Amino acid sequence: MDISSLTIKKAHELLVNKEITARELVEHFLKEAHTKSELNAYREIFDDALASADAAQKMLDAGTGTLLTGIPIALKDNILMKGKIASASSKMLEHYRATYDAHVVARLRDAGAVFLGRTNMDEFAMGSSTENSAFGVTKNPHDLSRVPGGSSGGSASAIASGTVLGALGSDTGGSIRQPAAFCGVVGLKPTYGAVSRSGLIAMASSLDQIGPLAKTVEDAKIIFDVIKGKDPLDSTSYPDNFPHKENKKPKVIGVPVDFVRMKGVDPEVLRNFDASIAKMKNAGYEIRDISLPSLAHGLSVYYILMPAEVSSNLARLDGVRYGFHADGTNLLGDYARSRGEGFGREVRRRILLGTYVLSSGYHDEYYGRASAVREMLRLDLQKAFEGVDIIATPTTPTAAFKIGEKTNDPLQMYLADIFTVSVNIAGVPAISIPSGFIEEGGSKLPLGIQFIAPSFGEEALFDAGGDFEKVRGF
Ligand code: GLN
Repeated sequence: MDISSLTIKKAHELLVNKEITARELVEHFLKEAHTKSELNAYREIFDDALASADAAQKMLDAGTGTLLTGIPIALKDNILMKGKIASASSKMLEHYRATYDAHVVARLRDAGAVFLGRTNMDEFAMGSSTENSAFGVTKNPHDLSRVPGGSSGGSASAIASGTVLGALGSDTGGSIRQPAAFCGVVGLKPTYGAVSRSGLIAMASSLDQIGPLAKTVEDAKIIFDVIKGKDPLDSTSYPDNFPHKENKKPKVIGVPVDFVRMKGVDPEVLRNFDASIAKMKNAGYEIRDISLPSLAHGLSVYYILMPAEVSSNLARLDGVRYGFHADGTNLLGDYARSRGEGFGREVRRRILLGTYVLSSGYHDEYYGRASAVREMLRLDLQKAFEGVDIIATPTTPTAAFKIGEKTNDPLQMYLADIFTVSVNIAGVPAISIPSGFIEEGGSKLPLGIQFIAPSFGEEALFDAGGDFEKVRGF
């Protein structure tokens, strides 16, 4: 039996039919995770995973198991699990131990999931390649000289390399979907408020969402169904049964043609996208060209609002209360040294940028205007959804790039998120699904297609995504 290539669904069936025990399953993945350490996908592989597997087996034997009981799951290093380190892959929190479970962790724990380890990421989720981790880059299993995407690159690489069955990531501007596309797995950014952010180390609170990465749309749905829902500790979370547009099967796919064909998108990516859309048409979907000019402003809005929130969220890390500390000659010196040495370059860059756009005199010009454009973008998308059920774009403008290729050019790096950021700005859900491969330098590199739905339209994404998996042809 090829255990590494199992899906969550299939592993669940094997567990229930007693063809494998939870311990055997988890032992296998622990071994794989340790063997494939050169990927640097994990910051830590948990030493209590086997004990959790035995507890899960008891649930299965007692008939109280769920679809996730005994299933090994990895957590991004910015999601708190009581008693474990959660470092956000930053020197600042290198030794920080969580004192409580994130809501999503408590939900998964109740479901009997087995936490296998925590995965590497760009420091405080800022980046598109995991090169900003304070603990070294993660490698793309499809080509070790390339990045896995980011910031949830460890989670994506871990699944794609067969070392775990599912994982959680966080997505502020594309950090679940972009690494999913680069590594050839499925990644879902849920509706803002669909999943509690309690216990997620904050990056930009009005944009952050936790979501699943997995091998199939079905598996992503299994995880999402467990983690979603109201949490009294996150006032922006919605109840499971929040009334939304009736869940009809999606039929019409809108393609924002001008946006998709903008300058800088790899022609191979466009070819793959066009072919994918043609397959959906053959499968019975109506394809409609739409115009969404405000999408072009997504990145500009994001790189004002996000740093503003970053600078305010990260102010708590002052070297005094917890986290990295370095002595200065006075209190201000303590702050300067602790923050100067505890945070990496990209994090410091964004704190500076955010402090600038919020500074008095500039607030209206930057933050105020970006907030107004955010509203425009949200309304434009809402209007587009009056005519179509879902919107499709490529997930990324290129396939996985080489390690080091963009590190000296932050603006080039930011472009990796051109198709994903607007989704967070509008708060709507989107999924990335593997759509094929391109050959580059002797490697077969995965590509992804992104489907976007109106708020709380996750079911439409699962429907269309499941259909796409059937017709994509691999
Ligand atoms: N890559 C984007 C950034 O650097 C998105 C990050 C994220 O979604 N956490 O900000």
